[in-house]
Amino acid sequence: MSFTASSNEQMADALGDISQLPKTMKMAVSKEIEESFQPVPRPNGGDWLAQHNERGQTMESFQKTSSKAIPHGTHKTIYIQPIGSFNHPRAAPLDMIIKFVRIFFSGCEVELLPTVDFTKDMRKRDLGGQPQYLTGDFHNYLVQTRSQRDPRRELLCVAVTMADIYPGEGWNFVYGQARPNDGVGVYSFARLDPLFYRANFEEILRTPLTEAHRIIMFRRCVKVLLHEIGHLFGLKHCIYYVCLMNGANNEKEMDRQPLYLCPVCLCKLHSSLQFDVQHLYETFADQCNKYGLEPECSWYQKRLEYIH
Ligand SMILES: [Zn+2]
Ligand SMILES: [Zn+2]
Repeated sequence: MSFTASSNEQMADALGDISQLPKTMKMAVSKEIEESFQPVPRPNGGDWLAQHNERGQTMESFQKTSSKAIPHGTHKTIYIQPIGSFNHPRAAPLDMIIKFVRIFFSGCEVELLPTVDFTKDMRKRDLGGQPQYLTGDFHNYLVQTRSQRDPRRELLCVAVTMADIYPGEGWNFVYGQARPNDGVGVYSFARLDPLFYRANFEEILRTPLTEAHRIIMFRRCVKVLLHEIGHLFGLKHCIYYVCLMNGANNEKEMDRQPLYLCPVCLCKLHSSLQFDVQHLYETFADQCNKYGLEPECSWYQKRLEYIH
């Protein structure tokens, strides 16, 4: 499958008419774009774009999409439902990760629910001695348990797990999968540990967490959750720039995804959330700084210089 990078005209077409945007948003999506946003590199054999024929989603096609979350009335809460144990030193630090979700999806409330165990209805297969769970059964569980949450407040509910997951036969794994029509999704942090491909599960649990690995994992966890919740807000995979919404098939591609949206994707999210982009960038930069995500902090600070 061959991927052709978008021309400048196609990028401008994808963005559409920005004349009605607030002043800071207009600057955020038009000033010094080439300096801050990289073109998508030519994909290698195992990369997402070499294996999936992504046509891209323009702002216009996003606006026509009906399966997307838009906060309305009392429905503003993104519930995060941990499933299975998070009780080991290499588990994703959910309380820290959701602070980034709260800032990124500005105007939504984010609530971390108490951890629950896997149910007996959740189908799994054996992968190298470890269970790997079927994503669809998590979606079903979240839909079935909606009445136990607050249905009047719920906008979305996403399950997070340290177990490995797969969407069906013919797939080795997925990092996450959303079901936008039901406003639910499931995301796994299992493969975000740099040791995942180098050691078995017991060895991983016994290995002390170094600071270098902690920061790699933390960055990936934030990224997966923002990317996947982005899908529930109707954002499809981005083919215009190096962007949080690029598809990822492997660790290398995941590590290349930045923690920011390109101009096209930023416009999409803004059309649903109507955030103040300057405030969002300032608070996100502070948060990155607080948790040691230095390159990300610098990127946001640089963009802020252009949109003041
Ligand atoms: Zn995706
Ligand atoms: Zn994008």
